[in-house]
Amino acid sequence: MIRFYNTLGRKLEDFNSIIPGQVRMYTCGPTVYNFAHIGNFRAYLFEDLLRRTLEYHGSKVIQVMNLTDVDDKTIRDSRKANLPLADFTRKYKDAFFEDLKTLRIEPAAVYPEATAHIPEMLQMIGQLMDKGFAYQSGDGSIYFSIAKCPSYGQLVKLDFENQRKAERVRSDEYAKDSVADFALWKAWDENDGDVKWDSPWGAGRPGWHLECSAMSRKYLGQTFDIHTGGVDNMFPHHEDEIAQSESANGCKFVNYWLHCEHLTVKGAKMSKSAGNFFTLRDLLSQGWNGAEIRYVLIGTHYRSKLNFDPAALDTARTALKKFRTLFGKLKALPAGNSLAAEAAAIAADAKAKFAEGIADDLNISRAMAVLFTFTREVNSLLAKNPAADAAKIILDRYRDFDRVLAFLDVDAAEPVQEAARQDVPAEIMDLVEQRIAAKKARNFALADELRDKISAAGWNVKDTPAGPEITRQ
Ligand SMILES: [Zn+2]
Repeated sequence: MIRFYNTLGRKLEDFNSIIPGQVRMYTCGPTVYNFAHIGNFRAYLFEDLLRRTLEYHGSKVIQVMNLTDVDDKTIRDSRKANLPLADFTRKYKDAFFEDLKTLRIEPAAVYPEATAHIPEMLQMIGQLMDKGFAYQSGDGSIYFSIAKCPSYGQLVKLDFENQRKAERVRSDEYAKDSVADFALWKAWDENDGDVKWDSPWGAGRPGWHLECSAMSRKYLGQTFDIHTGGVDNMFPHHEDEIAQSESANGCKFVNYWLHCEHLTVKGAKMSKSAGNFFTLRDLLSQGWNGAEIRYVLIGTHYRSKLNFDPAALDTARTALKKFRTLFGKLKALPAGNSLAAEAAAIAADAKAKFAEGIADDLNISRAMAVLFTFTREVNSLLAKNPAADAAKIILDRYRDFDRVLAFLDVDAAEPVQEAARQDVPAEIMDLVEQRIAAKKARNFALADELRDKISAAGWNVKDTPAGPEITRQ
């Protein structure tokens, strides 16, 4: 049984999807006005881990992630850049999809863009107006009236009576202590430039919160299984989504709400002025790769604050290298079935524990502990001279774990004979492994360059079907 901590109700609950075997899940995506930073990606990686865990346990997942390409920030910054809104956001949309690939985040079924769903949003505003949940203010904007929605505040448990104010708030983001009617439709003003759409209530543009209610309904239905986001989305964004959807549809919006905690850098909030602000691209340009960054960002449980220390990437690199070396050894074992039964036993035990650990509210610490215990057992087995059949069982188990973890890359490791490793200094082995990777990427110029380096250091490398043979000159 899978269980999750449901923000709605603040407790661990067994997970049951509405349609058995199928999970419908909505994820608040990026506002495409800048490159996403690693705090954003921590949340997208948590959602990927969630999705992979559901799939690992046999569910088909239909995930929808929106792209906010019109809101206060996109309009403000496109005007600063003196670009039409669509041209301005295009660059960051493209970058976002590239970054998802780098981090091995599985693609969602649909990435609806807010600007492509104005009719759906207008339809929802019309329903809210008809039912009396919304009203038009003096400037022509449409607001949601929280006084008409007694269940408002259910997600963040607002001390509602003390906070209720008759005020209105036009901006997309506001603080909890300014609980107020929020904008569904913002009447055009000169700050919007040429960004506007016609509506029955005059020209304007949608408020940010509305898009998620309208687009989730279109692609997932009125009631669906899981809604996710970062903790900073809980208020006002998710609270407002619930109010809009449940008022317009007259039924429950979402059964399970899951929220990912903040990322800090060495204990401090990430900020450009403090010089501790990292986009994914910053880390890539420092030489780290997607697998290493993924390893670090999913390594802390999603409901704990992640204190990001760049030194953790070193640890990740070392750990992943050890795995690669181990896979290389396993792939070079001779044919035969020696110790296959033992391998099957430890692989089956590890599978059961891993599946149970990750199903427990995505307990990544338990899953990683299983991975390391299994690896210790594999290393003990290797000392007893197993053969290829045992290696296949073990490698298949690592491949199976990588359906969830997606950083082990079992199939990227080339066989390297154990005999070839002995007495070869680590820095030479490093060059040998880089050369294997270069050849795999068909970068033969780099492979030749690395061979020259190895040779200049006093070693010869010879390619054999069982992997490279390294000998002293
Ligand atoms: Zn949203």
